[in-house]
Amino acid sequence: MKFKSLVLAAAAFAASSIVGAQTYPTKPVTMIVPFAAGGPTDTVARTVASVMSKTLGQTVVVENVGGAGGTIGVGRVVAAANDGYTFLLMHIGISTAPSLYRTLKYDVNKDLEPIGLVTEVPMTLIAKTAFPPKDFKELVSYVKANKDKVSYANAGIGSASHLCGMLFMTAIQTDVLTVPYKGTAPAMTDLLGGQVDFMCDQTTNTTSQIKGGKVKAYGVTSLTRVASLPDLPTLNEAGLKDFSVGVWHGVWTPKGTAKAINDKLGAALQAALKDDTVKARFAELGTAPEPLARQTPDALRAHLAAEITKWAPIIKKAGVYAD
Ligand code: ASP
Repeated sequence: MKFKSLVLAAAAFAASSIVGAQTYPTKPVTMIVPFAAGGPTDTVARTVASVMSKTLGQTVVVENVGGAGGTIGVGRVVAAANDGYTFLLMHIGISTAPSLYRTLKYDVNKDLEPIGLVTEVPMTLIAKTAFPPKDFKELVSYVKANKDKVSYANAGIGSASHLCGMLFMTAIQTDVLTVPYKGTAPAMTDLLGGQVDFMCDQTTNTTSQIKGGKVKAYGVTSLTRVASLPDLPTLNEAGLKDFSVGVWHGVWTPKGTAKAINDKLGAALQAALKDDTVKARFAELGTAPEPLARQTPDALRAHLAAEITKWAPIIKKAGVYAD
């Protein structure tokens, strides 16, 4: 009798989650962004979320959970209920954190379900307007000569700004003081206010500041110039041979989320990425949607694994670790 009622309860539960997946979503859905509001990842997230809301018929609410280079926000999604009402939009940092952190509370390959790649955003090396170096060559000699005085802003170990700064400092063999923020939105505020000297940040946060002359820009981290900033040389052109960082973004759900739910989120993501307003906004900000074939779970799964493998030896060589 007891066994029978357990079986019935299990069957009822399974049936209700199938119905749940079929009717999903019946209430607002939360997209966790592991960085501060108003920053580059947040901008990508909100641009996509507004169109996903239309497709899903429910509001996709962006919640910013910044700190520890994005690992706190990712951890939040790993620990969330796998009912489709919480999902993650994160970037390249998800692939560097496993090498940078001695202990991570989750396994990015096992604890999340990939939905698809979103966009790959170039970064720009920028400084406060009062920073003396006029171009990249001068920047390198100035930073080397003043390494005890200059400060570099980033969004914590595991962020894209951390990765870019680490690669830059390794390339010029100079370490400077780094100042961590919960995202590059607050870092940008301090850069504009002159409290920190320079940083590397995505074009989704820097394009209008560069165009408006509010910051100095020394180069872009893609191997080709960015159409929205045609006068800005690539760092490769400027002298950092083969320097290349593309801040790819992806969407994930917590492990065990029903396939029917993941499929609905995936379809909503794909609809957003072919939307003309999203494409136009991305172009304005120096980026573009990933090709359709990469907006899929398999592409994101493979890309994440490849990126973890790619960055591990580079990080090991740089000798940077966090606890
Ligand atoms: N992209 C992050 C932000 O949105 C910062 C970073 O990764 O550097 O603030």
